[in-house]
Amino acid sequence: MLVTAKEMLIKARDGKYAVGQFNINNLEWTKAVLLTAQELNSPVILGVSEGAGKYMCGYRTVVGMVNGMLKELNITIPVALHLDHGSFEGAKACINAGFSSIMFDGSHYPIAENIAKTTALVNTCDILGISLEAEVGSIGGEEDGVIGMGECADPTECKMIADLGVTMLAAGIGNIHGKYPANWKGLSFETLAAVKEKVGDMPLVLHGGTGIPADMIKKAISLGVAKINVNTECQLSFAAATRKYIEEGKDNQGKGYDPRKLLAPGFEAIKATVKEKMELFGSVNKA
Ligand SMILES: [Zn+2]
Repeated sequence: MLVTAKEMLIKARDGKYAVGQFNINNLEWTKAVLLTAQELNSPVILGVSEGAGKYMCGYRTVVGMVNGMLKELNITIPVALHLDHGSFEGAKACINAGFSSIMFDGSHYPIAENIAKTTALVNTCDILGISLEAEVGSIGGEEDGVIGMGECADPTECKMIADLGVTMLAAGIGNIHGKYPANWKGLSFETLAAVKEKVGDMPLVLHGGTGIPADMIKKAISLGVAKINVNTECQLSFAAATRKYIEEGKDNQGKGYDPRKLLAPGFEAIKATVKEKMELFGSVNKA
């Protein structure tokens, strides 16, 4: 059964480790993340962006697939199904479809509008027992070929949003989605410490977990980060393993074209990436 992300993040915050959010794209992705989490006895958050939700034939299909796997694969660790960077409409759709956790990304709105929309969702999620992530200060990344260096959130605005009663808060601290550019300046621990000082016990979320050096991840966890999002890194390892299989001509050997064989190396590569991240985040045996 799906659970809210609330308890697992409170445990992570108190235990000084982080729970990984791994974004899913299809059946292989979901199965790889769930099986790895079960093998490592780690709590896990499955992230679904609005684009990935559409790709997987809608939120109801995603909920059906994930709930089916929890039963058929005998998954007993805590699993939250979480909307990643949701719009207000997307958040409502996922709540109706049976997601156990929602991110409403109102970071592109003026702060007053971000507060109004987040407040409406806080009340709804409270009633339904769904965890809610809010964002302040947009996370950088490549958009239309322009690479943002990663904004730093205003700690006072972070407190305004945290005080609304959200479960967890994503604050921009110089982090970026996708691959990090060579001239990236690193995470702003000054900003993270200032945000933590203002929001107190609120579990913090670090987006753009791909390519952040291990020592920065550990430091971020020590400063209150309890959830780390990983998306691109699984895509890169899946693509590399699939490329290798085809470049070695394995799809032309025997029944190597069978999708169950063709996608197997990518599936194993995702599992290896998820394992590496769970070990780094410290969530192994914390289910
Ligand atoms: Zn993100």
